[in-house]
Parts: sequence; C-alpha cells; structure tokens
Amino acid sequence: MANVTIKKVSKIYSGDIVAVKDVSIEIIDREFVVLVGPSGCGKSTTLRMIAGLETVSEGEIYINGQLVNEVPAKNRDIAMVFQNYALYPHMSVYDNLAFGLKLRHFPQVEVDRRVNEAAEILGITDRLQRKPKELSGGERQRVAVGRAIVRKPKVFLFDEPLSNLDAKLRVQMRMELQKLHNRLQATMIYVTHDQVEALTLGDRIVVMKDGVIQQIADPVSLYESPVNKFVAGFIGSPPSNFLKGKIIPRAGELFFRDEGIRLKILKQHHDKVHPYVNQEIVMGIRPEDVYDKLFAQAASEDFTITATVDLAEPMGSEIYLYFSAGRNDLIVRVSNQDTAQVNQDVQLVFDMSKVHFFDPKTEVAIL
Ligand code: ADP
Repeated sequence: MANVTIKKVSKIYSGDIVAVKDVSIEIIDREFVVLVGPSGCGKSTTLRMIAGLETVSEGEIYINGQLVNEVPAKNRDIAMVFQNYALYPHMSVYDNLAFGLKLRHFPQVEVDRRVNEAAEILGITDRLQRKPKELSGGERQRVAVGRAIVRKPKVFLFDEPLSNLDAKLRVQMRMELQKLHNRLQATMIYVTHDQVEALTLGDRIVVMKDGVIQQIADPVSLYESPVNKFVAGFIGSPPSNFLKGKIIPRAGELFFRDEGIRLKILKQHHDKVHPYVNQEIVMGIRPEDVYDKLFAQAASEDFTITATVDLAEPMGSEIYLYFSAGRNDLIVRVSNQDTAQVNQDVQLVFDMSKVHFFDPKTEVAIL
C-alpha cells in the first residue's frame, strides 16, 4: 500500500537554476504514473526528490501520509531502476539480485526465496549463475528490475529504464513492465521522454515542460483534450498539425481561413471561437483526422482544401504525406493504398469535429 503526495514542490539548484517549479501530484496506491516531457523539463529531478536522492527546495513530499523531506533515501522503502543498469560486473545474476538484501541482513532462506521469486517473475531463472556480460541488453534490464522487486518496496521508481534498449526490445520490455505492474499491484512512477511509452504504460500521465506541469490526465483524455498547444504537439506521432488562420463570418456561418484554406467551423465550436472573429487563431488537427478526398468522396466542399504534396514517407501500413498550403504545413496519415505523388495537388478533407483551437499568444486551448 502506498500513496505518494507531492505538494507544491520546487527544486532550485545553485546558480538559481529552477529545475522543478511548484509541482503537485497526488499518486494513489497501485497507480502507474508516468512523468513525460522533453529533455531538461525536470522529470528526473522530480523522481530523484521522491527517491530522496535530491533535496527538496520548497514544498513537501509524503509517502503514505508521512512527510519524507528529511527521511534518507534508504529509509523511504522505495526502489529505483535506472537507465544504466549499474549491475556489479564481477557478480553473478543471483548475487546481483541478492546484494541489497544481504546488505540489509536478510536471512539466507529469505534471500533465496525472494531472488528465486523475482527471477521467476522476470523469466531469468536459467540465467541466475551467469555474469552480466553474458546477458543480452534485455536480460540485464530485467536483472536491474529484479533488484528492485526483491526488496518489495512500497513504491517503484523508473528513470528512463528502456532508453538503452533497441526499438524491438523496448516494445517487448514495455509489455513486460505492464504485466509486472498487474502482477505486483504496486505503485509505480516512471520517467520517460518518449510519449509512446507514456501513453502505453501510464494509468495517468504528467506532462512537464520547463519544470512546470502542463497537464495530468489519463492517456485518452490527454490525446483528445490537450490543455495547450505544447501538450497537443508533444503527445501523438507524427505530431499534431497547427494551422494559422483567421475566423471569418459569412452568412451566419464561421470559417477558418488562410491562404489556400477555407474550412467551415461546425456549429458546436461556434461559441468558443466567437471571441476570435476576424482575428488570428491556431487550429490543431491530428494527421489521422485529415483524409484524401479519394477515400472520402461524400465529404462536403466546406471541409475540403487543395494542397500540394511536398514529400511522401511510406511507413509500411500507411504513408505520411507532407503538404504545404500557403504559409501552413500539414502532415497527413493515409493508407498505403493512397497513390498521391510528390508535386501532385490533392484534395484534403478535414474532420472538423476533431479540431482544437488555441489562442495564438498564450497557446492555451480554447474550450
Ligand atoms: P529531465 O529529466 O526532464 O531531462 P532534469 O530533471 O534532469 O530533466 O533537469 C532539469 C533541469 O535541471 C535541467 O535544466 C538541468 O540542466 C538542471 N539540472 C539537473 N541537475 C542539475 C544539477 N545537479 N545542478 C544544476 N542543474 C541541474
């Protein structure tokens, strides 16, 4: 059982470097929370403060209601898995797993029981007598996770644990971590810069930028209802399109207009864009919400623009088409059956029910 409460926490390094600013997160028992954001946004610093590896400059951290700001790392009942596994090269896998327990003077029978149990959970029982250098990257990472498991901590912390693995192994380990979470039913806090990892692993995701939390939400809400342009752009691959234009009224209707673009705004969005009539606005739309008209023939002209293909990137099952329309660029995900060629004009249909609008200055989503 472990809740972690982070209350208005800031970290200021010497030289007035504000790494984390006024961060508050309420993590409930058994939750898998992912901190995600670009490099330098303060994710690791936040995690390290929870672990007790970094002091807290301002604010409070509670584990199960107990204030831990002054509690040393070793007494927090937390286990952390790092990106570089830091295994002892001269020790066997068994001894690597047992090391922390022996240090804490666990009886040999208990050490043996826990090491074997962790090895079984991770599927490395037949590797216990090997040295780290005789293991694959994935197996080493499993041993690193195993060292955390044997301690049966209240909270697991992961700092980019999969970054050193190749793409295929990363996907496999991602699934294994999910299974591990289901099996151990433990509270887990996970740091990554990879939004796909965040979406696939997190019950809830905390998006950070410049030391500040932008949004905390479950993966679907984050994807469907980003609070600002940063979150909309960071979550999703390829990234969301952001088109600059103006809201223009015509005969009781509103249109999003710019050079080469004229799109009718649905009635359901009128209220929110109304304050921007005749003004600049940013319209966000995901690459999968724009269609080649060839495959959406019934679509109205009101939701269609014509743009030229600049580049086509075949991705196997689909193709990413890159367009320009006036000053705006656009990425569209189409099926691999699409025959659009570079330099060809293509009619593109926008699913206007999926668009988001952002204030051009504050970049905040207009709700
Ligand atoms: P992330 O994990 O999101 O990549 P970090 O938490 O490691 O980001 O770092 C956040 C900010 O704090 C960065 O600007 C980084 O340069 C700075 N920083 C991290 N550690 C230190 C330190 N020990 N001293 C000074 N600045 C640091």
